[in-house]
Parts: sequence; structure tokens; C-alpha cells
Amino acid sequence: MSKELGRVDPISGCYKSKPKSTVRNDCATACCSQVSLCYSLCMSARLLDGLKIRDQIFEELKVEVRELVAKSVRPGLAAVLVGENPASQLYVKSKITACEQLGLASWLHTPSADVSTEQLLKLVRNLNVDYEVDGILVQLPLPAQVDAKRILEAVDPVKDVDGLHPVNLGKLVSNRPGPVACTPAGCMELLRRYQIPLEGANAVVLGRSDMVGKPMALLLMHANATVTICHSKTRDLPEVVRRADIVVAAMGKAGYVQPDWIRPGAAVIDVGTNKVTDPAEAARLLRNFPERLEKFRTKGSVLLGDVHPDALQIAGALTPVPGGVGPMTITMLMSNTVKAARLRRLPNAAVAGN
Ligand code: NAP
Repeated sequence: MSKELGRVDPISGCYKSKPKSTVRNDCATACCSQVSLCYSLCMSARLLDGLKIRDQIFEELKVEVRELVAKSVRPGLAAVLVGENPASQLYVKSKITACEQLGLASWLHTPSADVSTEQLLKLVRNLNVDYEVDGILVQLPLPAQVDAKRILEAVDPVKDVDGLHPVNLGKLVSNRPGPVACTPAGCMELLRRYQIPLEGANAVVLGRSDMVGKPMALLLMHANATVTICHSKTRDLPEVVRRADIVVAAMGKAGYVQPDWIRPGAAVIDVGTNKVTDPAEAARLLRNFPERLEKFRTKGSVLLGDVHPDALQIAGALTPVPGGVGPMTITMLMSNTVKAARLRRLPNAAVAGN
């Protein structure tokens, strides 16, 4: 389908013809009565708001936590933060803050950067047998001298709230219940709550990491999408992406996915989180976003996704960066921890969705 002709509305599935000239602000009155469908005529994607969905899920989790606490179960998350990587420190701090907001117990373990594999294994084993600990989070990356695979495999699969243990990856492959990696789980939750149709949709996942690309592709396949997984050796990437009703970009390359690769009306999930500091790169990617460019000039950096910001004019729905997938990752970590507490400590209670 040519982008000049129109687009498929990913919410209703209807094809919308595109008027020759449209003015965004006229939309609510002139184009359509449903604000949620405005983007289909006014050439600007519906934003899939991760902050809003996070707030919704937090409210649901607070109720669940209160119910568990009433049964003497206070879900708890133990975070292991090795060394002093500022980005990791920031991520872990946000996770602990989220625990506090929801009434979860949390513990922070901070081994020094020169910790050995054996020392970390000992810590993980202690957390495995600690009754109060429902979820264990080992913040990645680990220092080079640590065997990260051994550490992740040492986490008790029932406490593996990051969904990275091979047992849980195996469960995901065979579509059995179990903790799922937080970022792809968060992407699915966004798609579900914004009612993006998945069944029969062509989904293209850019990236094949164990943490994002692979589990994302499996989740989409289990939701009956037809999935193509792309990676650095994929040929004709733009053509592959152009066939997609749903694009999930998880490559770690700022603005790599060009607007003209996006099929008009497609839903775009931008997982990429790239800190751009080069003024020329920022100017190129933000040429149509003067306010963001101005902020970049003041701050010296800007957070951009893997999808070129101009895709906003082509896509039917799109996750902003920041404020899209990012907040959903922490949200799903909280959700996995609450679920793990219920499953382990109240095994006879029914758990929705698991
Ligand atoms: P990763 O382990 O580095 O994997 C990147 C993937 O992208 C690899 O599979 C790689 O292919 C593929 N790739 C790289 N260049 C490509 C190209 N030119 N064409 C096609 N594929 C290409 O990264 P990750 O951990 O999956 O993370 C991906 C991005 O998501 C990063 O920006 C990361 O910061 C972000 N992220 C965000 C969140 C969040 O909460 N928002 C969470 C996790 C990750 P090969 O396999 O062939 O090398």
C-alpha cells in the first residue's frame, strides 16, 4: 500500500483514505467524531502512553498488594547492583522507588565492582532461600570478570522476575505460564491496552537479544501475529519493515528506522533508548522538533529511540521516547514480583493470567 493513498487504522482495522491536505487542529471537528481515530486523517500517530498505562497498572497492583498484605504476604524484591555504573544505579533506584510506591518490601545489595562470580553466586543462593524475597533482580551489565550466565542461571526460576532464566525462557517458547522478560511483556501490555489488533497482523521485530527481541517475537507469535525477526545481517531491511502492521524496534541505534520504512498506519513500538550527545546527530534527527532541539542545546543530550522521530507523521500509533516502553519495563517488574509472591506463598489461590 502506498503511503500517498492512505493508511490502515490499527485500532479499527479500517483503511482510511488520506485527504490531500489536512490540518491537525481541525481534526476533532472536521475529520472524525472519535478523537482516538484522529490520527488516521491528520497524519500524526496516536501516542501509546507508557506513563498513563503504568499509572493504571500501579493502581491495580496496589489493590492486589493490599489483598496479599491482608493475608500476611508482603511481596518483596531484592535488587543486586554491582559496582557504580551511573545508569544502573539510576535504573535500580527507580525500581526501589516503584516498590515503595506500591507497598512492596525491597532490599538493595551492592557488591563492589571487583566481586567474583563465586561471591555473587553465594549472594544469589542466600536470596533464593530467603522466604521474604519473592523476586531477585540482578542488574545488568555485570563486570567482565563475572560469569553473567552462571549468575542468571543460579536465580531460582520462581523468583526470576526478570524472566531471564533458561527455564522461564523455555516456558515462554512453549507458551506455558511463567515470568516473562519485563520489556517485551510491557510492550505487549501497551499493545493490549491500546487494543492494537495482533491476530493475523504482520509483525516485524528489529533485534534478537535474549532480553528483548527474542521474547518479543515469541509473545507476538503466541498472540497469533505473523512474526519476522530482523538482525544486523538481515537483507533489505527497509522492505521487510514496510510490510509490517506492527514494528518493534530494539536495536540500540538512534533514529535508525526511517519514516519511509513505516507502512502508513502501522503501530510502532520503539524500545530503543539512546542518549544522543552529538549536536549534528541531534539536529538531523530533531529537525522537525524545534522545542526538543532547543532542550538538547540547553542540556547537551537527548534521549531518542531507534525510530526516526519523523515517523510520528506516518505511523498510526507510536510509543514516545521517553515515556513509552521505558515506564512499562519497571511496571512489569513490579507485576512479576507481585505474581511471584502470590504463586509461591499462596499456591492454592487463583492467579489471573497465570
Ligand atoms: P542488544 O543486545 O545490543 O541487541 C541489539 C539487536 O539489534 C541485535 O540483535 C542486533 O543484531 C540488532 N541490530 C543491531 N544493528 C542492526 C541493524 N543495523 N539492523 C538490524 N538489526 C540490528 O540490545 P537490547 O538489549 O536488545 O536493547 C535494544 C535497545 O533497547 C537498546 O537501545 C536498549 O537501550 C533498549 N532497551 C530499552 C529498554 C526499556 O526499558 N526502554 C529495556 C531494554 C533495552 P545482531 O544480533 O545481528 O547483532
